[in-house]
Amino acid sequence: MKICKTINETTSLLSIFINDGKKIGFVPTMGALHKGHISLINISKKQNDITVVSIFVNPTQFNDKQDYIKYPRNSEKDLEMLSNTGCDLVFMPDDKEMYPEPDNRIFDLGNLETIMEGKFRPGHFQCVAGIVSKLFDIIKPDKAYFGQKDFQQLSVIKRLVQITNSKVQIISCPIIREENGLALSSRNLRLSVEEFKQAAIIYKTINQLSTFLENNKFCEFKTWAIKQIDKISLFKTEYIEIVDTETLGIVKDIKYHKSITCCIAVYCGQIRLIDNIQINL
Ligand code: AMP
Repeated sequence: MKICKTINETTSLLSIFINDGKKIGFVPTMGALHKGHISLINISKKQNDITVVSIFVNPTQFNDKQDYIKYPRNSEKDLEMLSNTGCDLVFMPDDKEMYPEPDNRIFDLGNLETIMEGKFRPGHFQCVAGIVSKLFDIIKPDKAYFGQKDFQQLSVIKRLVQITNSKVQIISCPIIREENGLALSSRNLRLSVEEFKQAAIIYKTINQLSTFLENNKFCEFKTWAIKQIDKISLFKTEYIEIVDTETLGIVKDIKYHKSITCCIAVYCGQIRLIDNIQINL
């Protein structure tokens, strides 16, 4: 496994593979790797000749400075996991390499910027789009792999590809969960043992949406869900929304939709966790 810290080193190495006609799969990450990340790499390995993983904790996309400072970092363990998974190349740039100057581009992300994560994390998706577009320019992958765990981010990336006329094929990968149902996340490392146990309520609650639908009680779901979660002390639901899986428009009546996704963000003490569940109607 080759470890590259500079753009020059990475592009010159990859150009050899690209000229050779090799298919490049790319998995962008912020490190603190877990089985969720590894599942993306495994899918890429099956579909490509070369799998590239990037590890870069992008400072610009954090709304909360403390969240950025406290974001888990463990490159030694990450590299061991990557090597065991059979990753071919790791791109690990520092901030200066990615931002020799500020990135002032503005992407037209439409409604994605004004709902859910877009609404509660202003500017976040502009910076996600910015860093992913830089990474795509460097790696030039055929396919790039993103987790459904970050459901709205996936839509942002699909839109980015569309508005920039990029040829990268975006592959959406299923959410990997803990045994208790909690979606794997690097931020879970910051939960106390008790918070980790209690956080199972997030998935347990959104998973009940199908029962509400069966009983024709769609309209009652959100209020019920917030009550379930917020009754745990130190847990606070920031938002819960049910949106159309394709357009991300808010669902008012399920009869007009083929597939819906229930998205949630919850503060477990200081730690903000997100999750979602998709229901095909
Ligand atoms: P991150 O390092 O959090 O930026 O995540 C890098 C990629 O891994 C993103 O595409 C995430 O959606 C994906 N990912 C994170 N957690 C999971 C999970 N539990 N299951 C599947 N994919 C995940």
